Amino acid sequence: MSFADLGLSDKVLQAVTSAGYTEPTPIQAQAIPHVLARRDVLGIAQTGTGKTAAFTLPMLTMLENGRARARMPRTLILEPTRELAAQVVENFERYGTNHKLNVALIIGGVSFGDQDAKLMRGTDVLIATPGRLLDHFERGKLLLTGVELLVIDEADRMLDMGFIPDIERIVKMVPFTRQTLFFSATMPPEIERLADMFLHNPQRIEVARPASTASTIVQKLVAVGPEGHEKREVLRRLIRGEADLNNGIIFCNRKRDVALLQKSLASHGFNVAALHGDMDQRARTVALDGFRSGEVPLLVASDVAARGLDIPAVSHVFNFDVPHHPEDYVHRIGRTGRAGRAGHAFTLASRADERSLHAIEALIGQPIPWAEGDLASLPESAGEAEPRTRHRGKSGEGARRGRGSGEAARSEPRARRTPRAAPAAGVEAAEAIVAASQPKPAAAKPAAAKPAAPKPPPHPRGERSRDERPQDDRRPSPVRRRNEDEDGETPLGLGAHVPAFLLRPAVIKPRKDD
Ligand code: AMP
Repeated sequence: MSFADLGLSDKVLQAVTSAGYTEPTPIQAQAIPHVLARRDVLGIAQTGTGKTAAFTLPMLTMLENGRARARMPRTLILEPTRELAAQVVENFERYGTNHKLNVALIIGGVSFGDQDAKLMRGTDVLIATPGRLLDHFERGKLLLTGVELLVIDEADRMLDMGFIPDIERIVKMVPFTRQTLFFSATMPPEIERLADMFLHNPQRIEVARPASTASTIVQKLVAVGPEGHEKREVLRRLIRGEADLNNGIIFCNRKRDVALLQKSLASHGFNVAALHGDMDQRARTVALDGFRSGEVPLLVASDVAARGLDIPAVSHVFNFDVPHHPEDYVHRIGRTGRAGRAGHAFTLASRADERSLHAIEALIGQPIPWAEGDLASLPESAGEAEPRTRHRGKSGEGARRGRGSGEAARSEPRARRTPRAAPAAGVEAAEAIVAASQPKPAAAKPAAAKPAAPKPPPHPRGERSRDERPQDDRRPSPVRRRNEDEDGETPLGLGAHVPAFLLRPAVIKPRKDD
């Protein structure tokens, strides 16, 4: 099948040829004719399958007729993260070179002014994260009654991030007669329910999940003790030992560890940037641009921040932590070995990770070989399960950490740092400073030292965007499955921390009249 068989307009076909695509991917071949026939589509597909073009190309064709009115976008695309939203804009720019369409990007972390102006001009395609879209709506700058086509992308990620109530609100504001395209990598029951609610007699299209990892990726497990400094040392040794390392992404499970590891690597002379959900938009863009351009060859990232990002040609992926969810492993290592290129994926694993490793191997249907010794080769002391990294299931039954774990350090990423050597003592000192700047688990806090609540910055009432808050700072949702902090373990009550006053023996004095 060729693109010419799908019913796309000449302008779009020219742009596809200029992009160098010779044939449609399976999701494109299956979805595009239905989208052009104005049918609702339920696409079960991950990023990397070409799903963005599966909705972008037919939308461009359809938008060639008609024009936008002020404050009333004609089409709306909802994305869970700012980076994914920006990537969709790039797709419209790439495939829409022969069109004169107004495309607006409405995301948090940037000022309202320019966005207001774009909306006033009239938008053919509005690409937004849910929080900022609702902010504009509440400020009376946006009407959704003219939306003819709605795309809900990465629905399962929206669920993970607690966005579903926002999505439900937005869908209610869009005309019932709209066409809806709904994409999700997985279909848990909650997502099935939403698909039933939002879609009208949809065409269901499912493309193979990359549960099987690309055969071009050489995967290795590296046994480590559970201590952070030990893991960092092993990681440095691995990076230095890889002669063909061109660039690499290092994944951590927690945002605070992203910041800590980036600082540690930088102090050891590596040219490294960080990407996590607590960074402001400018810092995130700088980090990503630096990595994409090759200026900064190493990127320490969290899953949420890196999910779905289209970063071609990554030679190495390092899992500093074994991901709690096996599908995240597939996602992470899928950053390398793309388009038939060779890739390397190293995963640092301690004995506490055994359960997660089994789940990963079950999902990918193959054992992952150990680089050197396996877990049994670790010294006894290193083998003790480490409660901090232990995870016994989705509900986070593992050891609970204290409050404050979500408040990752807002440390400046050193995206443009040049390599330099640092004396070991300085490194440890730097790590100690970084560690000291991290919020401690509550159990480590002296009972008497009650932390002062951080003062919110002054904001004119009603002006503060949801998306301007740190990403894990969004209001909790009843359908929220997982904290966007990537910790996956939200402490219940006081968590593992028992305040000292509760441990003191109670002295009950007899009353005088007893
Ligand atoms: P996506 O799944 O939308 O994130 O796309 C993943 C990558 O595939 C992007 O880099 C696209 O530029 C690329 N791509 C999309 N469609 C095609 C195609 N038909 N042929 C080759 N590459 C494509």
